Order: sequence, then C-alpha cells, then structure tokens
Amino acid sequence: MLNLDLHSHSIFSDGTLTPESLVARAAQRGVAVLALTDHDHTGGLPAARAAAAARGIRLIDGVEISVTWHGQTIHILGLAIDAGDTALQTGLAATRGGRIERARKMAAAFDALGIAGSFEGAQQFADNPQLIGRTHFARFLMQQGAVKDIKTAFKRFLGGGQPCYVPHQWTSLSDAVNWINGSGGVAVIAHPGRYPLDTAQMRALLAEFRELGGAAIEVVSSSHKPHQPATFAAQAREFGLAASAGSDFHSPQEGYHDLGGLPALPHGCAPVWRDWEAAQCEVLNVKC
Ligand code: AMP
Ligand code: MN
Ligand code: MN
Ligand code: MN
Repeated sequence: MLNLDLHSHSIFSDGTLTPESLVARAAQRGVAVLALTDHDHTGGLPAARAAAAARGIRLIDGVEISVTWHGQTIHILGLAIDAGDTALQTGLAATRGGRIERARKMAAAFDALGIAGSFEGAQQFADNPQLIGRTHFARFLMQQGAVKDIKTAFKRFLGGGQPCYVPHQWTSLSDAVNWINGSGGVAVIAHPGRYPLDTAQMRALLAEFRELGGAAIEVVSSSHKPHQPATFAAQAREFGLAASAGSDFHSPQEGYHDLGGLPALPHGCAPVWRDWEAAQCEVLNVKC
C-alpha cells in the first residue's frame, strides 16, 4: 500500500508553501502520490509536476472548486484534470472573479469593527492576488495580534454568521462537475463532514452529485472526527461513489494536519485512486 494524499494547497491559493516546497515536504514524509488542489486555480501544477518528477513521486493534477449549493458553500475537488482544458479554465476564472470585491466588503466590515487596513494586510499574505480569501485575512489578524490562531479568526470574525463573513455566490454544482468531467478528471466532494447539512440534506447532495456525474467523496479528511469516515464510507457505498483521502494541508505552521500519514480507508470502500496507485507501483517496481 502506498502513501497517498489527494488534497493540498500551495501559495497559488491559501497555502504557505511554494509548489516545489510542498512536493519536497510530501516526498520527505513518504507520500508516493500527491494531488495539488489549490482553490479555483491551477497555476501551481507545472512547478509541482517538475518537482514531483525530480523526486520520483506521482503528482495528480487537481483543483478545489468553490460551489454554492442551496445557499451553502461546498468544495468540489477535481482530480486528474487536464488543466489545459479551455472550458475548465474559463470556469475557474469566472469562479474566482468575485474574490477581490468580496475581500473589499470583508475589509469594510473589519473597518466597522475598528480593525483598519485589513484589505492591504490580507493582500500581503496572498501571493496570488486573484485568490485572496478568508485565510489571508486570518493571517493578517494573527499578525496584528487580534487573534491567537487561525481557528479563532474564523470563530470570531470570518466564519459563517460572524461579523466579517460576506456571503458569496460561487459557481453551481453542475458547472463544477461538468468542468471537471469535461477535462477528463474525476469530481470528489471535499471534507463532507464540514458542511452544516442535516442527514436529509447530505443525502440530497450525494444523490444530486451522483446524478450529475460526480465520482467520489473524501471519506478520510483531516477535517473529520474519528467516527465520520465510517459514516461517509457507508454513504459512498450506498450512493455508488468511490472514496478519497486527503490532508487538506495548507502550512507547516498554523496547526494543519501534515502531508501523508492519513488513516486507511474503512473496509469496503472503492478507492478513487486505484489506477494512479497501480501506475506508481509499476514505476516503483513494487507489488500492490
Ligand atoms: P474562502 O475560499 O476565502 O472562503 O476561504 C476558505 C478557506 O478558509 C478554506 O479553504 C480553509 O482553508 C479556511 N477555513 C475555513 N473555515 C475555517 C476554520 N474554521 N478554521 C480554519 N480555516 C478555515
Ligand atoms: Mn483553504
Ligand atoms: Mn475546502
Ligand atoms: Mn482544501
């Protein structure tokens, strides 16, 4: 069994490592198959691919698309996408298009609370200005000493219902799945345990996602509590979906789960990565 990690971020979205450093860290930690899945952007993939080739690890070209489904933000991973696909790139550009205006509104909310300069402050942390997001504001708040950690920044200011949360209309579930599938990739519901959906709503999401051509759900995620993988494994089986696993790593600091080292999928899951693992086993000349 190889070490696989199919969800990670670089400075092309809200991670703090360059694609090269991210791949180097993954290799050091024994990851054999890594997906780089920046939010709404694929700019880190060429550098990550070169670094992965140099270290003998397999890179899966990925992206994490922001979706609004019945007023709720849902993240859909695209794995093994073709980042050169025109429809995918046009769609990603449209999805991230509203981020700067949204950041301005967030900054106005911080101004109203007497926290000045947050737009420029967040910008300093956003290497990719198109991808400015809440994590960059959280880093600014930490730098200012307004909060002790990223988690508290979301809890007090940036999370849903908090004073600096600005509702945003992302793309639709069907568009995200179609862009991913149209580029030859597979669509995966990221960290299903993070959404404030009741059981009926989650089942509706899974049914609709499957109907639209979605392939898998992230059964193992650093966002999940210990009992959740078993629940999502059962739902994956019920809805005919495969299973994925990812650390959702963003930074060596800030308390994120590190790359690799994820628990195994619960028994009875169909891993979304079967072909990728087999190909890497062949390269490494190991049995699996
Ligand atoms: P955005 O796309 O700008 O809305 O930012 C979403 C990102 O914020 C996610 O990808 C996470 O990296 C981060 N995030 C969301 N909620 C939390 C939380 N409660 N604690 C820490 N980070 C969070
Ligand atoms: Mn993020
Ligand atoms: Mn996410
Ligand atoms: Mn993520």
